[in-house]
Amino acid sequence: MNKLKLVVLCVSVIFAYSCSKEDVSVEQVKDKSVNQTVSTQRAGLKPIGSGVMMQAFYWDVPAGGTWWNTVKVKVQDWSAAGIDAIWLPPASKAQNGPFSMGYDPFDYYDFGEYDQMGSVETRFGSKTELVSLIDTAHQNGLSVIADIVINHNSGGDSEANPYAGGNTWTEFNPLSGNFYRSATDFHANNVHSNDSGAFGGFPDLCHHQTYVQDWLWNNPNSVAKYYRDVIGFDGWRFDYVKGFEPWVVKAWNDEVGGFSVGEYWDSNVSTLDWWTGSADASAFDFACYYKMKDAFVGNNLNALNDNMLWKQNASRAMTFVTNHDTDEIINNKILAYAYILTHEGYPTIFYKDYEEWLNKERLNNLIWIHNNLASGSTSILHVDNDEYIAKRNGDNSSGLIVYINNSDVWQEKWVETNWSSATLKDYTGHSNWQPVTQSGKWVKIQAPPKSYTVWSTL
Ligand code: ZN
Ligand code: ZN
Ligand code: ZN
Repeated sequence: MNKLKLVVLCVSVIFAYSCSKEDVSVEQVKDKSVNQTVSTQRAGLKPIGSGVMMQAFYWDVPAGGTWWNTVKVKVQDWSAAGIDAIWLPPASKAQNGPFSMGYDPFDYYDFGEYDQMGSVETRFGSKTELVSLIDTAHQNGLSVIADIVINHNSGGDSEANPYAGGNTWTEFNPLSGNFYRSATDFHANNVHSNDSGAFGGFPDLCHHQTYVQDWLWNNPNSVAKYYRDVIGFDGWRFDYVKGFEPWVVKAWNDEVGGFSVGEYWDSNVSTLDWWTGSADASAFDFACYYKMKDAFVGNNLNALNDNMLWKQNASRAMTFVTNHDTDEIINNKILAYAYILTHEGYPTIFYKDYEEWLNKERLNNLIWIHNNLASGSTSILHVDNDEYIAKRNGDNSSGLIVYINNSDVWQEKWVETNWSSATLKDYTGHSNWQPVTQSGKWVKIQAPPKSYTVWSTL
């Protein structure tokens, strides 16, 4: 018997042991998953996508196990402001233990419970603190989105790997006793030499192995079901989805449901659109991100005329101005927020922008506008290098006209609205005009320098 078979045998023995030991909790998980039909939300939560998502972390949030508590005290205010979901960083134990931001996952079932990788708690806190944060979010109507890192793993021990002709760091014996892994579960292996991508030098999980599929989503005690039923997560943000094929996300979603969005870091609209269809999930609109960078940092609003995922497939597009990986729209950032919060797609707000860097009142006003006025299809009414005017045509609300001015002076323009002989006002309060549209629906609106206005009927 070679080393590999021995490892596999060990794994199955330990799995059987952990199943019998935790029969009760496994049964509970089963019951819940039967009662919970796929794709429905927990009772009492706001419909996801009806508001705005908060990315509730940034790179290198304070260490020391306090982050879950920091977020917990904010969720009530966020919900009142019109947030409908929060996205948390990868929550289970990673190789860098108390210092890790979670993107080097080791034990998917250790949320700050087991003394391994240098600490009991994660950088963000304990399992109890995480569950308490999620309960508080749920009480305030918010869905909680987990960051799922399943392209790669980190922190395994060295073992002889017959597929590598030497040793690799692919033996994972997590203290939770769940999802032991070894060489066959990573690339290269008996299935193939690689999938669509690896990340750095990390061991690259092979989702073609039935054993890996069982542990990630199929088993009653799989990662996906444990995250959903024991910890309480409602949806998924998949990290680095270029590193594996989209069917993986689709299989996960088919098994456990919930809102799902992938980080497909690519500005090509057709590629993003292809991925959302194949994965049956949303994608972050990197096309929109890069066009906004051209528009607001490159000072050429004509870039907003170009194609973006939300223009191609609005219901699958998550728009964002910055995230924990990239923060390039430094100039005129509030104009970029005015753009995503008045346009189609499901917008995300970045924690630091909301809590520290930008004016919270202005963001709250834009969130209100998003949730109350920004409905229906979009028509661009005017665009040049420093002015952009677009109309939301309304369905369940009257719609709006947004006027973004990236010049250094007040601007005004005549535009054609959807409203005849109606009094308008600027819901941002930046202009005190209350113009009346002509019977032919035309009206003159204005916007202050380096700012924006949002017009709708009184
Ligand atoms: Zn594979
Ligand atoms: Zn990333
Ligand atoms: Zn991969």
